[in-house]
Amino acid sequence: MSNSNQPTAGTEPYPTARTVEDFVRTIAAVRARIAAASERSSGAPSAVRLLPVSKTVSEDRIRLAVRAGLHEFGENKVQEATRKHRALADLDVSWSIIGHLQTNKARDVAAYATEFHALDSLRVAGALDRRLDVAGRELDVFVQVNTSAEPQKYGIHPDELPAFLAALRDYSSLRVRGLMTLALFTSDTERVRTCFALLRTLRDRMRSIGPDLIGPGDLSMGMSGDYETAIEEGATIVRVGQAIFGARATPDSFYWPDATPSGTPASS
Ligand SMILES: *Cc1c(COP(=O)(O)O)cnc(C)c1O
Repeated sequence: MSNSNQPTAGTEPYPTARTVEDFVRTIAAVRARIAAASERSSGAPSAVRLLPVSKTVSEDRIRLAVRAGLHEFGENKVQEATRKHRALADLDVSWSIIGHLQTNKARDVAAYATEFHALDSLRVAGALDRRLDVAGRELDVFVQVNTSAEPQKYGIHPDELPAFLAALRDYSSLRVRGLMTLALFTSDTERVRTCFALLRTLRDRMRSIGPDLIGPGDLSMGMSGDYETAIEEGATIVRVGQAIFGARATPDSFYWPDATPSGTPASS
């Protein structure tokens, strides 16, 4: 199976989907690539779930995407997710929060989100658990791990994972589903692959030392530029925005700390 007809990550034009037919086409194209990448995946090919990421996409266009068959959406920012959740309450859709969370937003997340993909502090776990308890809800969570060793990236250090997962046992409204990561932002596919492989290795290690701590052990990794590589390395959930909806004007630095060249000393 050759990779030669795959466009290089990061160079794709990502045309904007403006009609139901456009969405049918972009969704089918992404699903076809997911299926092809699953065949190349090193382990047993597992079902890969596509989590469409709708950040910056208007509610009108999300409605078109729903008509094209999407029923769940990922949003990085809670405020934007809450607004869309309310505006689209007439639809049968679910919302996953995939970005860094401040404890003062925990109440909103606890009120309606079905998943949180960026859990990386016990303070946030505690805030969510309290709010969920009051609301009588539970929440599926993924622990975000910093697999790129970039100091400014969100996520816990790989070495902290066993203790962090053990501590999460105290928060009974949180259901741990697995791990999440953002790879290095680079066109060097092999360095990206190393991040994804590390997350899989950490999951496998947890399955052997604490199988009750990692739930089903899902791996939420891969976005528009690198989801095929992520699947080859064992992703079970890919978070894909631009390849479905079209290119975003907002720079990625709005959503996560800007990458500095590796080796740059942290400012003091
Ligand atoms: C925006 C975002 C994605 C999707 O990125 P695309 O380039 O639109 O595919 C995935 N994960 C997180 C955490 C995001 O914020």
